[in-house]
Amino acid sequence: MGNLEVRDLRKEFRDNDNTIVAVDGFNADIKDGEFIVLVGPSGCGKSTTLRCIAGLESPTSGELVLDGENVVSQKPKHRDMAMVFQNYALYPHMTARENISFGLKMSTDMDKDERNKRTDEVAEMMGIEELLNKKPDELSGGQQQRVALGRAIVREPEVFLMDEPLSNLDAKLRTQMRTELQSIQENLDVTTIYVTHDQTEAMTMGDRIAVLNGGELQQIGTPLECYHCPKNRFVAGFIGSPSMNFFDVELDEDGATPTLVHEGFEYELDDSTYNDIKGTTNRFTLGIRPEDINLVREDAKNAVHATVEVTEPLGDVSYVYLDIGGDRYTATLEGDFVLEPGQELTVSFPNDRIHVFDGNTGDALHNRVHSENETIEIPGVGESQGTSTGVSTEQAD
Ligand code: ATP
Repeated sequence: MGNLEVRDLRKEFRDNDNTIVAVDGFNADIKDGEFIVLVGPSGCGKSTTLRCIAGLESPTSGELVLDGENVVSQKPKHRDMAMVFQNYALYPHMTARENISFGLKMSTDMDKDERNKRTDEVAEMMGIEELLNKKPDELSGGQQQRVALGRAIVREPEVFLMDEPLSNLDAKLRTQMRTELQSIQENLDVTTIYVTHDQTEAMTMGDRIAVLNGGELQQIGTPLECYHCPKNRFVAGFIGSPSMNFFDVELDEDGATPTLVHEGFEYELDDSTYNDIKGTTNRFTLGIRPEDINLVREDAKNAVHATVEVTEPLGDVSYVYLDIGGDRYTATLEGDFVLEPGQELTVSFPNDRIHVFDGNTGDALHNRVHSENETIEIPGVGESQGTSTGVSTEQAD
């Protein structure tokens, strides 16, 4: 079993007279066999969290309960966890076979034949049988990472801990290894905690993702929960590519219909959105994902006038950078549209796709409509999580 509860984990570092709080009260209940991804920008505390779980750092406070036992004071080798590092950390003087079987030699009483048998099985799983007699400097980055993964797998631990294991590989190999790693993890069914700064990796690999910022856990949930129902503006902006657009707006409640007022447009709210935000705060931020922006007729309800600044064609879609009210925003439109810089467009933000955040705290007040069964393509993510509804566009005549 590999049920891991992380309770109020805190880690402070002392730097001369300063105290750096690298991890500030991290809590998570990670179920046996679950694939959890820790994601966030550089310096947010991902690696420190993982290193505390591994036992490579001592937490300042907090508990780590593995299958009912608090392991926080146990040495790393007694925790039944195997870590895979970004830089592979292979022993340079050992062959791939020796690197893989070394852990077994140190931590079990298996004889050489048994160790070799296990190593052969794992090498076959990783597709590196031909490389077993080579030393690390004779292997490519991808091959070294396979050996490093093999070294973790051969120990059959309760928990895998992986710190950006794919980030030294080129983009194509990274995508390939991502898929392979996912299927290996699924087959082995071992609890896995995986650190990355890459939101695409997090979205595609994790059963759940934990989004960190400034040492604090912002949200933990399934990729689609974090994507559609972000708890705050940070999560909304970090998850999804290109990022969500944010507009500083004021709420005008004087007219017949409550309206969000921006320098470049006025946006009439539906009842559900208004009910969520009324009486909450005095400053609001309207959020809309680039793929939820539609081209519409000039006289459409809630029409927003925009000027094309730059277009980045990707083939199937184009990222179109728009000037709205003097600031730049992004729309993901169908690749068939040919748009020139300076061209005037009318776009709209569908009522059921907008998010509204507290303009002071960043907390989400209203999230877009989302049902668990909805099938939606996530731009910036290689594999769709369901059937695509495509980019919705209503072209002006
Ligand atoms: P990256 O993606 O760049 O690796 P990260 O999210 O993994 O970043 P951490 O490496 O966990 O972030 O660092 C979190 C914070 O703790 C940073 O401010 C970092 O400078 C600080 N930190 C980490 N290790 C130490 C240390 N040994 N001594 C002092 N400060 C440290």
